[in-house]
Amino acid sequence: MYRILLDKLYEDLKIKDNTEISSDLKTYADYGDKVDVTYLEKLREEKQEMKTKIVAKVLEKMKTKNSLIFTDGSVSQDGKVGAAVLIYPLAFSCSQSPPINLSFRIPDGLPIYFAEAFAILKALKYIIQHRSGFEDSVLITDSSKVLLDIKNKNIDKSSHPCIITQIINQIIEIDNITLMWLPGHTNGITQIKLVDKIAKLAAINQEIQQIEYSQSEVVCLIEDLIWKRWTKEWESDITCSYQEMYGLEKGGYQYENRRRREETILNRIRLLQTKLNSGLQKIGLHKDGRCDTCNLRQDLEHFVFECVETLEMREEIKAAWKGNDSICLKEICSKKVYQDIMIKFVLKNSISI
Ligand SMILES: [Zn+2]
Repeated sequence: MYRILLDKLYEDLKIKDNTEISSDLKTYADYGDKVDVTYLEKLREEKQEMKTKIVAKVLEKMKTKNSLIFTDGSVSQDGKVGAAVLIYPLAFSCSQSPPINLSFRIPDGLPIYFAEAFAILKALKYIIQHRSGFEDSVLITDSSKVLLDIKNKNIDKSSHPCIITQIINQIIEIDNITLMWLPGHTNGITQIKLVDKIAKLAAINQEIQQIEYSQSEVVCLIEDLIWKRWTKEWESDITCSYQEMYGLEKGGYQYENRRRREETILNRIRLLQTKLNSGLQKIGLHKDGRCDTCNLRQDLEHFVFECVETLEMREEIKAAWKGNDSICLKEICSKKVYQDIMIKFVLKNSISI
């Protein structure tokens, strides 16, 4: 039974090969000086313009004798993931040949950390495969997290230890290589811009590259799968007004720092579970759910938009309204400026909400 469930899960996750990957570090040799993070510190305080100038200089210096490799990862807003490698081999640098580029779309739901590491691993494997022209290589990445984990052999604390281990195992196979951090957002550096673009395009490729999975990657994929199913269910089966009003929010709704009393009011309003008469009626505490003044159904919409008793609050919201469209309840319940007006009104008039 368990086997069947597991196989079904692998099928849903599109994992074809679930063999364990080897994640043993091959050696304890010191490779630390092959990883150069000096610019991480040096450029920290620099202004954008200066950063770009310095990066351009660094690259210019390397051009004459090194083969250059740029790597980048990208995660789109809807969770699609790409990785790219842009290679300028030594042998080609004189002939001005166009660079070689490798791009991969990897499974949805993997984080940017993995994408960046994946690009580095692919680049290193390429160098090992085509040694000539890569006698003296510099690999450039903008992922400080990945690079620091590699440099510090940070296997225990890395969120994807297997791929970091694999990278380290490749580095020690290559004699003359430097992995260097340079900033990613440097407008005007052609190669960095280009590798970023290739990674972004890779994320929308049709074909998804199979990767070697360890537990850390499978966990990401399962979380993504659960999220997608949950979203689908949420959108296809709307059974209450809360669902109708709000979309799913990844990571949940973040409250500002508020007093306890304010938080309670806000929670009731946001969850559409108030003690207004329609809410009381639901639990049998009010005869018809109508507003005592207006004789209309007293729900949150009535309270905000119609009730004669709340005119003052409504005027204040209107005056503060910044949206282009007509005033909507979701916005009023979600943004601090309108929440403040409602809370103030409720407290001032001792309304039981
Ligand atoms: Zn009313």
